[in-house]
Amino acid sequence: MTTAASCIFCRIVKGEIPSFAVYEDAHVLAFLDISPLAKGHTLVIPKRHAAKIEEMTSEEAAALFKAVHKIARPICESVDARDSTIAFNNGPAAGQEVAHVHCHIVPRWQGDTFGPIHRMFEKPTVSKDELSQLHQRIKARLR
Ligand code: AMP
Ligand code: ZN
Repeated sequence: MTTAASCIFCRIVKGEIPSFAVYEDAHVLAFLDISPLAKGHTLVIPKRHAAKIEEMTSEEAAALFKAVHKIARPICESVDARDSTIAFNNGPAAGQEVAHVHCHIVPRWQGDTFGPIHRMFEKPTVSKDELSQLHQRIKARLR
């Protein structure tokens, strides 16, 4: 299990590992990805260690999204991109390799051929009945 002491992103927050930081506030740090999927690929993280989105406080979650909202356009403009894929790999089954929440901002260009994240999935067949049951199950948990 990754702890705050062993976590590479916590070490970046503490300044023990260098990073190309582009934005910082009380709750959030954003820095360039060291192995970018595209020019300008940036990671936005909560400063406090949390492995998954669900482990952040709502204040941290709000601050994280506020930072994403603030920096997405300048990041894209810096690499002449208009659009971006903004995504979290949330947990190991979803491919998260660094166990500290991070939002990927990946600039995108018309014709870059990578397509939408929908391409990652083989869609299951889901009937209207199943959708309706699922709808009820989720609503029950949100009460
Ligand atoms: P994920 O697969 O969603 O956990 O993504 C982890 C990301 O962290 C990858 O895109 C890595 O390139 C990036 N990464 C790992 N170590 C560093 C580092 N020291 N500085 C910047 N980015 C890093
Ligand atoms: Zn951490």
